[in-house]
Amino acid sequence: MGAAAQSPVRDNERAMEFVDLKAQYQRIGAQVDARIRKVLDHQRFILGPEVGELEERLAARVGARHSISCASGTDALLLALMALGTGPGDEVITAPFTFFATGEMITLLGGRPVFVDIEPVGYNIDPRKIEAAITPRTKAILPVSLYGQPAEMDAVNAIAKSYGLAVIEDAAQSFGALYKGRHSGNLSTIGCTSFFPSKPLGCYGDGGACFTNDDGLAGAIRELRNHGQEGRYRHTRIGINGRLDTLQAAVLLAKLEVFDEELTTRAEIADRYNALLKDAVHTPRVLPERTSAWAQYTIEVEDRETVEISLHGAGIPTAVHYPTPLHLQPVYAELAKEMEWASGSFPIAERAAERVLGLPIHPYVKPVEVDRVAEAVKEAVRGPVAAGLAKPSR
Ligand SMILES: *Cc1c(COP(=O)(O)O)cnc(C)c1O
Repeated sequence: MGAAAQSPVRDNERAMEFVDLKAQYQRIGAQVDARIRKVLDHQRFILGPEVGELEERLAARVGARHSISCASGTDALLLALMALGTGPGDEVITAPFTFFATGEMITLLGGRPVFVDIEPVGYNIDPRKIEAAITPRTKAILPVSLYGQPAEMDAVNAIAKSYGLAVIEDAAQSFGALYKGRHSGNLSTIGCTSFFPSKPLGCYGDGGACFTNDDGLAGAIRELRNHGQEGRYRHTRIGINGRLDTLQAAVLLAKLEVFDEELTTRAEIADRYNALLKDAVHTPRVLPERTSAWAQYTIEVEDRETVEISLHGAGIPTAVHYPTPLHLQPVYAELAKEMEWASGSFPIAERAAERVLGLPIHPYVKPVEVDRVAEAVKEAVRGPVAAGLAKPSR
């Protein structure tokens, strides 16, 4: 009752959340509780019935033959790379503008991430630049569908096919998005997603899933996530403990019931932001023939730090995904030297990393809050440092 009883003014004064999971729980708490209660009753916490039920639902949703749940989006990437046999000496082509795990799992297996710059609209790997990065050691291409918008998957798949390469889509942010009528996660050899709490479909801890239409790869991923067991205590591969908890599957089953509605609301919020901000800042654009799951609503600004300070002062949380491209990360200094990567090697990614700013977006942001954020953004870019950037609007 508390929040609902507050006056609109009080409500506006309340600090905004970047992702408001409490508001979602207020809506679907009863269903989540009932699902969790069932698990507490049957006590099958590891690979219990909810895990199988979730996998069937997820596979049906994306139209894939197989869905294999796992312990995180990071494990999904690791399992996909392991199933393809990625190891020392193998190269995997990917984008430098992503969450660290994308490159990290390639390196963890002894492989080498080979970065290719992004295109500036969708912030995803630029297919026109992939072929130049292919070598006899290339094992796979790993495009990321950043901020919720699928990468140019047909072009990536066509290149992969002509060189006999596998494609792994990092769909950690794009579960729920469509590309030419097909579901993100089911657009390549293997698709990987994350159920981290703040992702479009999130659980109450860590979780993830792989999707594939290849029976052999599905079997491999299923065994690899459970210590490479082909049968009980019969180990035919070196795997990991990468299973999704039954409790997390139960939470996801409850959340799936409202997921489509939430996707619609996210898109409405993005549209509202776009309408309010398009004349003031660089607003995000969804490329043709696809939808975005709007995991992030990301604008670009010239003087990001000033804008951030101004927004935080107005009680508006922001986030930067991501401030440093992977080729400039300290841990990749050696690799960068070897590959002759430096500042300027991937200019589109580097420019994005300097300019992007995520505004609050989740299905429970109210239109008045969007209006307030948009006003504050306009104020911020009209500020003294950024003066002259915003088109005069009054
Ligand atoms: C969140 C994310 C991951 C990792 O997922 P976790 O569930 O946090 O392990 C990987 N890649 C991208 C692009 C992500 O956004």
